Amino acid sequence: MEGSWAAAAIEIGHVVVEPNGRTCACGVDGCAEAYASGPSIGRLAMALGRGEDARLGSLARAAWTGAAPTFPGSPLAARALAGDLLNAREVYQAYAAGDSLAVAVDAIAAEVLARAVLTGLVVLAPDTVVLGGGVIAGAPHLPARIAGLAPGRVYADAWKHCAFEAARLSHRAGLLGAALYGASLVLPRADLLALAAATLG
Ligand SMILES: [Zn+2]
Repeated sequence: MEGSWAAAAIEIGHVVVEPNGRTCACGVDGCAEAYASGPSIGRLAMALGRGEDARLGSLARAAWTGAAPTFPGSPLAARALAGDLLNAREVYQAYAAGDSLAVAVDAIAAEVLARAVLTGLVVLAPDTVVLGGGVIAGAPHLPARIAGLAPGRVYADAWKHCAFEAARLSHRAGLLGAALYGASLVLPRADLLALAAATLG
């Protein structure tokens, strides 16, 4: 951001998606990261599996209607009750097997990410949203889930003109982006596009 006081901006993980929600590492209650970061997904599964108040507020509606359920037959909930530490990778392995607790956590993560990302659509009007990081790598269905939540949440032109994709460059994205930015300062556009095509595949 030109002229910003900060070296970073558009910290969309710190958009508040649930007032009075779970406390984020940044100190604010209800940030998207407090629900949908890798560590938060593990902690959320542990809290729900143990029947603790997970400070879901309106997010509870994303995962179930009526009273908060227990998760009978869920191996993941059994592990939470036994005091195991859970991480996002384990939650999404359980999700792939149809575990009821993991399915509930996934619904909350999708809802949280939709609230944050769709706020970004209104502000930035992008033609593509690329979602990356460890959570998306383990849950590649999430971009399509978020796209599916867009109608009715944000005006139609904003989402109809936007594609939702999973990042393809993983941890190399920042490095390659910096290298291509450097190249853009010295190369003609045609050469830069050829270099980008060769580098990004
Ligand atoms: Zn935060």
